Amino acid sequence: MSEHQRPKKKADKRPSDIDCWVLKQFGGVDARASIIQHAEELVRSAGTRNAPVKLSEIANLLNVNPAPIYSEGSTQGALKIVNGQLRIVLRSKIKRPPPAGSVSFRRMRFTYSHELAHALFYDREHKPPIRIAPRGCYRDEESLCNCAAATFLMPEYLLRPLLDHVAEPSLDLLEELAQLFQVSVHVVAIQSRALFQPKLHDDRVYMLSCKSSGPARTSVEKPRCVLAFVSANLSRKGVRILNPNQGIERISSNNAPPSGGWSLSVNFDKLITARPNEVMTVDEMLTCPGGEMVHFIGQHIARGSFIWTSGRVEVARLPRKLEQGAD
Ligand SMILES: [Zn+2]
Repeated sequence: MSEHQRPKKKADKRPSDIDCWVLKQFGGVDARASIIQHAEELVRSAGTRNAPVKLSEIANLLNVNPAPIYSEGSTQGALKIVNGQLRIVLRSKIKRPPPAGSVSFRRMRFTYSHELAHALFYDREHKPPIRIAPRGCYRDEESLCNCAAATFLMPEYLLRPLLDHVAEPSLDLLEELAQLFQVSVHVVAIQSRALFQPKLHDDRVYMLSCKSSGPARTSVEKPRCVLAFVSANLSRKGVRILNPNQGIERISSNNAPPSGGWSLSVNFDKLITARPNEVMTVDEMLTCPGGEMVHFIGQHIARGSFIWTSGRVEVARLPRKLEQGAD
């Protein structure tokens, strides 16, 4: 399971066996909120006061041997019982961690954190540890572990004070926080969105996009939305722009031919290869996959492999429905 993969929650979805187990074990009424709260408490209990979070301290707290086993296996990571101990196995051809601070290092921290979250489903006092949570809810368990993993790496109590006096998200900010917490920009976007949403100006949207091969890295590689930050006001009206992992080509522009496509999708490659921080300003009518038509006035800025889109929108037509899946 990759850090990009957080299976979407359907509003009418009945809780799965693993969701019910989480609620029974950790309390609350929503399994994701419950496991996030539990993960947050664990980071606090480990005595973490500053970023980056030392995952080995959380491992110790969970009775997981903190030293990972590097293996050339086919999965990115796994939690196994080895010699009576819970151990985290990480895929590495070179059988050692990537250079500290590198993109692969941060990605591996997420995998480690995700596997650590699987330990929550074990009786860890038992010798050897035994799994006590129900099996057979793969997608739900992966989703819960991704929530816990992102919280281990970037708990709200460490992030919130850093955003207290920041009015809006920016690529600079996401990158700074990614460096500080030693996580990917994706994790920062996911963890900070809820904290930004209530304070965004009524007409503001921001979006991070990059080329990727989808949530399970099995789909076609193309420019996709990583995450859109939409003000609470627009969100209430049903404006979503794009869901995580949706291809950006799904937004169409009502501007005159010949393009017909959104300035971002038409110019994605050109923006990526342009000089860093070169700004492309745009003013266009857009139709989003959810059916909302908006007048967007803003800009695209590319840096590294990411493009940051920001601007204001006026709603010209409300969405025909609120739920849209990733493609
Ligand atoms: Zn997993």
